[in-house]
Amino acid sequence: MKPRQGVSSEVPMPDLINLYDLGRDELADLIMGWGEPRYRADQVWQWLYGHKVTLIDEMHNLPRSLRERLAAETCLGGLELVREMRSSDGETRKYALRLSDGQIIESVLMEYAGVRRTACISTQAGCAMGCVFCATGQMGFARHLSAGEIVEQVLYIARVLEADGERLSNVVLMGMGEPFHNYEATLAAIRRMIDPDGLEIGQRHITVSTVGLVPAIRRFAGEGLQVRLAISLHAATDEERSALLPVNRRYPIAEVMAAVRDYIARTGRRVTFEWALIDGQNDTPEQAHALGKLLAGLLCHVNLIPLNPTSGYTGGPASAGRIERFVRILESYHVPATVRVRRGIDIHAGCGQLKAAVMASK
Ligand code: SAH
Ligand code: SF4
Repeated sequence: MKPRQGVSSEVPMPDLINLYDLGRDELADLIMGWGEPRYRADQVWQWLYGHKVTLIDEMHNLPRSLRERLAAETCLGGLELVREMRSSDGETRKYALRLSDGQIIESVLMEYAGVRRTACISTQAGCAMGCVFCATGQMGFARHLSAGEIVEQVLYIARVLEADGERLSNVVLMGMGEPFHNYEATLAAIRRMIDPDGLEIGQRHITVSTVGLVPAIRRFAGEGLQVRLAISLHAATDEERSALLPVNRRYPIAEVMAAVRDYIARTGRRVTFEWALIDGQNDTPEQAHALGKLLAGLLCHVNLIPLNPTSGYTGGPASAGRIERFVRILESYHVPATVRVRRGIDIHAGCGQLKAAVMASK
C-alpha cells in the first residue's frame, strides 16, 4: 500500500494498492472481489508485465468502469527517476530511483554487446549486514523493499531496453541490500519475474546473491526454483571473514558450507562463490589454499572480483600478478574460477559501490 502521489490535499487520501505488490492470485482476488470475471485479472496482468504499461488508462481492453476503479484504488508502483548516469564506455547505466517515501535506491543496467543485458537490482534501501568494504553496508539499513518495489526496478529497466528494441535477458539481485534478509518479498518478486505470462525471464538467467544467511539458504533449497545462487564468501577462514563480514560471527564458514552442500545435494545446482580480491588481505597464497581445500570436489564456481573502491574502506584491488597466482592455486585444487571484469566503476555502479548518493530530497 502506498500513498497517492502528486496530490496535495488537506484530506488524507486512502492508501492505494500497488498493483506490482500483488501476485497473480491476489490480483484475481481483488478484481473478482469487485464482481469482475477472472479473465479481467489476466488482462490486467498482461498489461502490467507483458505490455509494461505505465498508466491504467493504457489498458484499452478493460471496460471504462474497471479502469476507473483501478485508477481510484490502485497505482502502478511509484519509482521516480532521480538521476541517470552512464559509464564512459556506454555499457553501464545506473539509475537512482526514489521510492514513494523518499528513500532512494539504485538499479544498474549492464549491456554485454550481443550477449546479454543484465539488470542489477536492489532488495533493500541500505543494508544491515555491515560488510566493511561495501558502500551499501557503510550506509546502514533504512528499510526492506516490497515485492512490488523490487519488480518495478526490473520493469523500469526492461522498458528502457524495449525503447531501444532490446530485451532484458538477465537479472541479478546484487544491488543494494541483502536479498535473504528480505526473503518473502525477494521470493515473491522472483516468482513475478519468471512468470511465463509476464516478464518471462528464464529462471537460470536470474541470480540471487547472499552474504550467507544460513536458514534462508536452507529454505531457498526447498523452493523448487532453478534460479542461480551466489554466496559472498570473500575469506576462507573465520577470523579473516569475520573481520570483513560481521555476519560471519553469527553464521561461520562451516555452517554456511554445510547449508551450501545440502543445497547442492537437494537441487543438483552449481553454486557460485564470490570473492572480492583485496590487496594484501584475502589475495594471499594462504587464503587461496584454504579456499581450494574448502571447495575441492564441490559443484561450484568462484567469481573473483578485484575490489571496487568505496569511500569508507581503505583497502585496494589486488594486482594482476596476485590475481593470477590466486587463480593458479585454485586450479591446483580443480576449483574453477573466473576473474570478473569490473564494470561501471567511473559511475560507482560496480559491485559494492551502490549507495544512495543523492539522499532523500523529497
Ligand atoms: N547482499 C548480497 C548482494 C549484494 S552485494 C551479498 O552480499 O551477496 C553483491 C556482491 O558485491 C557481493 O558478492 C558483495 O560481497 C560484493 N561486493 C560488495 N562490496 C564490494 C566491493 N567494494 N568490491 C567488490 N565487490 C563487492
Ligand atoms: Fe549488504 Fe551485501 Fe553489501 Fe554485505 S556486501 S553490506 S550483505 S549489500
